[in-house]
Amino acid sequence: MRRIDKAYINGGFAELHGTEVFNLISPVNHEKIGEVVLGDESDAIKAIVAAKTAFKTFSKTSIQQRIEILEKLKRSVESKEKQLIETMILEYGGTRQFCTMSFQNMVGSFEHMIETLHQFEFERKAGNTLVQMVPVGVVGIITPWNSSNSFICNKFATAVAAGCTVVVKPSEMSALQTQLIIECFHEAGLADGIFNVVNGLGSVVGSEIVNHPDVAKISFTGSTQTGKMIAKGAVDSMKRVTLELGGKSPNIILDDADFTQAIRQAVFGAYMNSGQACIAPTRLLVPQSRLAETNQLAKEAALQVVVGDPVNENTNVGPMVSEKQYERVQHYIQLGLDEGAELLVGGKGKPEGLEDGNYVKATIFTNVRNNMRIAQEEIFGPVLSIISYQDEEDAIAIANDTQYGLAAYVTSSDEHRALKVASRIEAGRVCINGFKHDPLAPFGGFKQSGIGREFGTYGLEEYLEPKSILI
Ligand code: NAD
Repeated sequence: MRRIDKAYINGGFAELHGTEVFNLISPVNHEKIGEVVLGDESDAIKAIVAAKTAFKTFSKTSIQQRIEILEKLKRSVESKEKQLIETMILEYGGTRQFCTMSFQNMVGSFEHMIETLHQFEFERKAGNTLVQMVPVGVVGIITPWNSSNSFICNKFATAVAAGCTVVVKPSEMSALQTQLIIECFHEAGLADGIFNVVNGLGSVVGSEIVNHPDVAKISFTGSTQTGKMIAKGAVDSMKRVTLELGGKSPNIILDDADFTQAIRQAVFGAYMNSGQACIAPTRLLVPQSRLAETNQLAKEAALQVVVGDPVNENTNVGPMVSEKQYERVQHYIQLGLDEGAELLVGGKGKPEGLEDGNYVKATIFTNVRNNMRIAQEEIFGPVLSIISYQDEEDAIAIANDTQYGLAAYVTSSDEHRALKVASRIEAGRVCINGFKHDPLAPFGGFKQSGIGREFGTYGLEEYLEPKSILI
């Protein structure tokens, strides 16, 4: 059992003023696996002061120096591969498959920011004016539990590339993983004050970072509900905000697609990170005339989904992160039944033999109408809704009939046709024929899925202020 009782401030492990303790509970068997002492407002302020002081020097570093720092950070993260993966699995019950991919994304954050820096123009011309892209200042990084370290790595790599210093407030449920990433960065020999971390509650440490006038920007990943609170809090000091929020992604299968492959991929995709993924394609849209075939194929695929211990290589769906999350998913399954959706597989309760953990049955509803709450609200569990459409127009209308706009998917044997559909979907990312990630392409949400973009040059610009110098 590990006890995390220090913040990381100004290049060292610092005693906390806060005393409240949060227990870390295994999602697999509910045993206590650790505890974290939560910081308070004064701990957050100490970290902000350290970041503000460090910014004076760090903002003036050369691009070459920043590239060297990113290379060191990358090597340091790579050296702890096994521990990072095992700790993710232990702490939030992420499957080995997903946590391995998440680790690759961590390393990739540094690689791709180095690549971006090589081509980025910090000085440009606009008309006859010189435009300098200058670092925005201290950045507050607030992250969720569902792939915590990959968010921290991506946001911190971007901050380093821009010349910004950071204060991180990770999810309190991710303290063990965070401790490891702190150790990685500490061992990389960063200058003091560039990277600071305070564990704590969102309403205490998070809120202090959001409200503090010396923090220039917030980079947040989490729920839409919290994102709205952050945007409201940030406005008083006119902070810049990047908000990566929730999603309810449509997955349109066009009538010319290979259904055997597409439906299987759709089912496994919906269950990525055990359904706890903002980009999971949770609404499967198929032609009305192919609904019966889809139901059959989806059922067959779901029966092949392995729900179980996340340690095992072949597990596709692990437990929900917490009992609260388990209850939330159960509530939505009941809601689906109450709303009159047809349960195809899964349903309420725990799978047989997995009663000790927060396991949910891999669940599919069919004959779902898009105005049902299970089709409109983010469930964040392994629950897929199958919705039928009349024609292409109808499919696009259903896909766009949501408050969210993070990701979308289109499958067709005709790429040109898929592209035409993709260009009419209101989402920050549309993948054609499969699940793809390009870390140099902008990522972020339309509508209530967020504000701003991450990754590549678009992500880097969010940490910079354009400054015009008219000579
Ligand atoms: P959450 O919104 O409950 O918490 C996220 C973080 O915000 C946590 O660190 C929390 O402590 C903090 N927080 C809470 N209240 C705060 C406040 N008032 N001020 C400042 N900080 C506060 O989200 P979660 O349950 O940890 O994560 C799941 C959510 O994250 C889902 O909605 C999911 O879609 C979203 N998410 C989005 C993306 C994306 O890239 N768009 C990626 C992953 C997860």
